[in-house]
Amino acid sequence: MILITKNNDMAQKIAEKLDTKNPIKPVFVHENRVALAGVKTLPESTLNEISQDIVEIITNHHQAIVSSRDFHPHDTIIKTNHSIIGGNNFVFMAGPDSIESAEHVLEMGRQVKAAGATILRGGAFKPRTSPYSFQGNGEVGLKAHRAAADVLGMDMITEILDTRDVDLVDSYTDIFQVGTRNMQNFALLKALGQKRKPVVLKRGMSATIDDLLNAAEYIAAGGNHQIMLMERGIRTYDNKYTRNTIDVSAIPVLQSLTHYPVIADASHAAGVAKFVTPLALAATAAGSQGLMTEIHDDPAHAFVDGAQALTPDAFAKLANKVRQIHDIVAHDN
Ligand code: PEP
Repeated sequence: MILITKNNDMAQKIAEKLDTKNPIKPVFVHENRVALAGVKTLPESTLNEISQDIVEIITNHHQAIVSSRDFHPHDTIIKTNHSIIGGNNFVFMAGPDSIESAEHVLEMGRQVKAAGATILRGGAFKPRTSPYSFQGNGEVGLKAHRAAADVLGMDMITEILDTRDVDLVDSYTDIFQVGTRNMQNFALLKALGQKRKPVVLKRGMSATIDDLLNAAEYIAAGGNHQIMLMERGIRTYDNKYTRNTIDVSAIPVLQSLTHYPVIADASHAAGVAKFVTPLALAATAAGSQGLMTEIHDDPAHAFVDGAQALTPDAFAKLANKVRQIHDIVAHDN
């Protein structure tokens, strides 16, 4: 049961009155609506007592209340300096897997921008399976990434792995990226909930759709509603030929359940460059509102994940095809 009140003061007043085991937390939903989450059931007498302060009582709702369309019917549109994300807009986030050098990220950025990308991706902190693999260039990488984005007039997105780095990464990036391995790192999600900056939340490799929505809710409950969800492929029983299985059905399902933009990462799903384009096209046809793509001018010598990197030329071709499909899908809505 969710009680909706008009404002925070009202919500606080009611929360104090209610005697429940779980502390009741007022959560801003939107437009003069503050929800009291965590109320299980209330006796008739209590309900009568507070009835004049309650705008609505909603039952049978999704657990992730702020993130759910039940409470926020319109698409969330996120505006950054160089991009408009969500609704019928389509955004390209592209760049190298990791920031290798200042010159390299600048050149890769130049090429992806020419192909239509407005957001430059790249990892300075890399979540590697082996502790002996390249872990990223840390702050040196963040600086190079920021400089390239500024010179090119692009937004920067980079992955955050650790709560201890939130302020450091915040001082450089325009968009935080939470990777598949950290989707349920609740301490990190809560810390990002305190920021007022967009977050891309990638689906955990074994996460259900409800797991993903509840993870997003950890960010939203802190008051940061600028969330994008990213389908990047999940583990299924056959990962010999692709790295993960892109769950295209998750795209329209998420869009029906939540108001956040849903974006696809075909690179991490495919794991192999030659499959990135078909998966990206499929995700776009399924209604994805953007694409994250890894590119490299010399994939064989990329520091990380060269096998799935598209060359800048291949990315430009992909982007052209994606735009055509998006035009059909978007106009259909
Ligand atoms: C990445 O985008 O660099 C990355 C590591 O992605 P994922 O978390 O999806 O594996």
